[in-house]
Amino acid sequence: MRSAEVIVIGAGPAGAMAACLLARAGVDVLLTDRAPFPRPKLCGGCLAHAGYELLEVNGLHSIPSVSNASGIDCLKLHSGARWLLLPVPPYRVIDRGQFDQDLVHAATSAGARFSPDTQARVRPDRGVELRHADGHRETITPRTIIIADGIKGTALRDLDRFAWRTKPNAHVGIGAIASAFPRCCDPYAISMHHFSGGYAGVAPLSDGRAIIAGAINPSWIRRQLDTTPMNALLRGIGIEFDQPTTLTTNPGAPGLTRRRGAIEDDAQVFLIGDATGYIEPFTGEGMTWAMTDACLIVEHALAAMSGSYRTGAWASQHAQLNRRRKLLCHATARLLRSSGLTNAIISAGSRSRALSAGLSRAVDLMQRQNLQRTGIV
Ligand SMILES: Cc1cc2nc3c(=O)[nH]c(=O)nc-3n(C[C@H](O)[C@H](O)[C@H](O)COP(=O)(O)OP(=O)(O)OC[C@H]3O[C@@H](n4cnc5c(N)ncnc54)[C@H](O)[C@@H]3O)c2cc1C
Repeated sequence: MRSAEVIVIGAGPAGAMAACLLARAGVDVLLTDRAPFPRPKLCGGCLAHAGYELLEVNGLHSIPSVSNASGIDCLKLHSGARWLLLPVPPYRVIDRGQFDQDLVHAATSAGARFSPDTQARVRPDRGVELRHADGHRETITPRTIIIADGIKGTALRDLDRFAWRTKPNAHVGIGAIASAFPRCCDPYAISMHHFSGGYAGVAPLSDGRAIIAGAINPSWIRRQLDTTPMNALLRGIGIEFDQPTTLTTNPGAPGLTRRRGAIEDDAQVFLIGDATGYIEPFTGEGMTWAMTDACLIVEHALAAMSGSYRTGAWASQHAQLNRRRKLLCHATARLLRSSGLTNAIISAGSRSRALSAGLSRAVDLMQRQNLQRTGIV
């Protein structure tokens, strides 16, 4: 394989979108992923409206996984037998395997080369070692390296300054796709369930399947000796199926709240998406943030290639964006982790229409303002 001006490591929404936009800008891009594609991905599958707008401004909103998706505009917050229905701007519920594959297809159509099943590793001298599935190894020396290797990324394990720092006792992620929709959930809403082990969301795919994803306390999982973590979760939130149902479990995610030691280096290495860090919980924004980073990194990468990059520009722009993201995440995590708070919101929201409308609006505004601030939409 010949070298490339830019290598993008990781073909999730961050990497595939960045590769697509760089290729459109005329850059010679190589996109790699260690997994064979399409690949399963742990995710609630809820693409926020702001994420849809981001696809739209980039002419990518008609990819099949998005145009075939169900639009869901209700969020149902459950705690035990009690619940509150909140109107929200429409989320598209997508199959992540298909969505990521569609974005990769957009990148290759724009001229990027894609190498699946290829594990990448950045060496201290900034050569990038590629290990292909057949065991073949090669090293390339691109001018710019974009790391989009996600929450379980391994591309930077030889570079100490990028080491992962995980919050002690962080919740872990588990999830599955069910071949049928569960009895107790509303097929026209995204359900968020609070229970003693953590919380989980259930979202309806347009073909009748359901996506189930949870953030779970690891010590709670260790206490469930009689069954698998997924079955324990289903039992915890009271999910049952009317018909025989196949559960396809996605690979889990380690301690969710984590960050990397640095997000850029030497005007050559830039991190985007979950590779920069992740803040529990999932508020239906991770894909949107990943694609926002992808849109923003293009200008920095082009500046780096022309020698006009101002060191630290990406890190400071990203830190600014993250301040607002963290605020929303910490508030949501506090709510979902506490049964007292969840119950109080459900009671107050059921009594006051104005409060429930205000809650939905607040989340939408925070998501949207972040994007508007960047000037992308
Ligand atoms: C339980 C859970 C539920 C979630 N629910 C939602 C939701 O409903 N809505 C939402 O918007 N977000 C949700 N998220 C967040 C969302 O999934 C992520 O924010 C999003 O996938 C980030 O995209 P990314 O491109 O940064 O990383 P990823 O999608 O993780 O992609 C990273 C890619 O890098 C590859 N890779 C890793 N290391 C290497 C290497 N060394 N060489 C080559 N390739 C490598 C991996 O194979 C992977 O394909 C959820 C997350 C969790 C954990």
